[in-house]
Amino acid sequence: MKILADCKFNTKRIHAGYRPEEHHYASSVPIYQTAAFGLTNTTVANQIVTGQLPGRFDYSRDGNPTVQVLEDRIAELEGGIGAAAVASGMSAISFTILNVADGGGRIIAPINIYGSTLDEFRNFFPTYGINFDLVDNINDLKQVEQLIKPDTKAIYVESVANPSTEIADLEALAQIAHAAGIPLIVDNTFPTTYLLRPFEYGADIVIYSSTKGINGHGNTLSGLIVDHGKFDWTNGRFPQFTSEEFILGDEQRKVTASFSSKFGSAAFIKRIRMKYIRLLGSVLGPIDAYFVLLGLETIAERLDKQVASTEKIAQFLVKNPHVKQVFYSGLDPHDRLVKKYLPQGVGSILSFELAGNEENVAKLIDQTQIFSYLPNIGDAKSLIVNPARTTHREVPAEFRQRTGLNPQLIRLSIGLEDVDDLISDLNQALAGAFK
Ligand code: PLP
Repeated sequence: MKILADCKFNTKRIHAGYRPEEHHYASSVPIYQTAAFGLTNTTVANQIVTGQLPGRFDYSRDGNPTVQVLEDRIAELEGGIGAAAVASGMSAISFTILNVADGGGRIIAPINIYGSTLDEFRNFFPTYGINFDLVDNINDLKQVEQLIKPDTKAIYVESVANPSTEIADLEALAQIAHAAGIPLIVDNTFPTTYLLRPFEYGADIVIYSSTKGINGHGNTLSGLIVDHGKFDWTNGRFPQFTSEEFILGDEQRKVTASFSSKFGSAAFIKRIRMKYIRLLGSVLGPIDAYFVLLGLETIAERLDKQVASTEKIAQFLVKNPHVKQVFYSGLDPHDRLVKKYLPQGVGSILSFELAGNEENVAKLIDQTQIFSYLPNIGDAKSLIVNPARTTHREVPAEFRQRTGLNPQLIRLSIGLEDVDDLISDLNQALAGAFK
């Protein structure tokens, strides 16, 4: 749709990727709850399975109309060439790493990232020949530059780190990556597509756990991979994109092809779909895609309120005598990285270190009445968790000491309740924790 292509974020989050006239004019995106789709006849079947009939589907592991609306919508919002939806944020990360470093290689990443991601980078991928150069500070650009070796395949960051909310200097990192012929991969889960769009700063691949703020209601797991479509995968470092693949050719017509020769600038996202989603599974179901689409429709209203409440709560915590330190980059709106990347707010998650011990942490958590104690973020409900023992338990003590992720740290995800009620709840729980 020509007009829609020129529209701004708030129009696209509601309309992009969906044409009601192609779906009986249904106002709400229909849930195509089916495993497979009729192939009509053998001639049409051949066209469908070789990708010559866009809009036709064969099997929901290869693609599904409901899921495709979500994929097209997020690609539009991000300004990417395409997207793939998967069953969880971890699948999005796993498939992206496999795709960029298929056959082995190295990736540079910071240590202050989500616990399962760090576990995967330290203990899972190395057994498959993919090794990680983990750095304490990803914004130490000199160190990052020095770590790039001939077999380095990417720089990986969380735009806003979980749980410290440190901001990665995306533009500077993209420049370093591109000068070396490698892509910048950004997990943008914390700020969401509403507060930050990393392609605008040169990132090549954006990943989401859309379980979080994009969905916003904590009712389903999902992940998204978005491809900017600007990176040159034929530069010699990534033979997986230029080598011929049987599945891409046509045996009957004796045609051979590689992902790059067949799909050009969309090689990365097509390979994600055809290699990893098709072969490893971890598909997003249509009902889950529907929930994510529904949540995405209200992302701006939710995030605006949540950011305002989070800032107020951060200010409250800074002044509380039981709080040793608050970790929320949004506390300093004049910070260079906040101003540059997150002028509308850093997000709805913050953490703080209690001026006490783990017993006080347990008492505080047990005494909250509005905050739910559970390992998630980006819900309409406010959430509380002790990361060192839950979401980040995979992080060894040695790493935790270096990132301030000690057992006295508490992470909050701020929901849509009245902020005064949230502050009252925290106030009574903080007082009760030290009685
Ligand atoms: N990335 C970040 C920053 C996260 O916080 C999480 C989960 O908390 C993930 C990825 C993994 O997402 P999922 O739980 O949807 O697999």
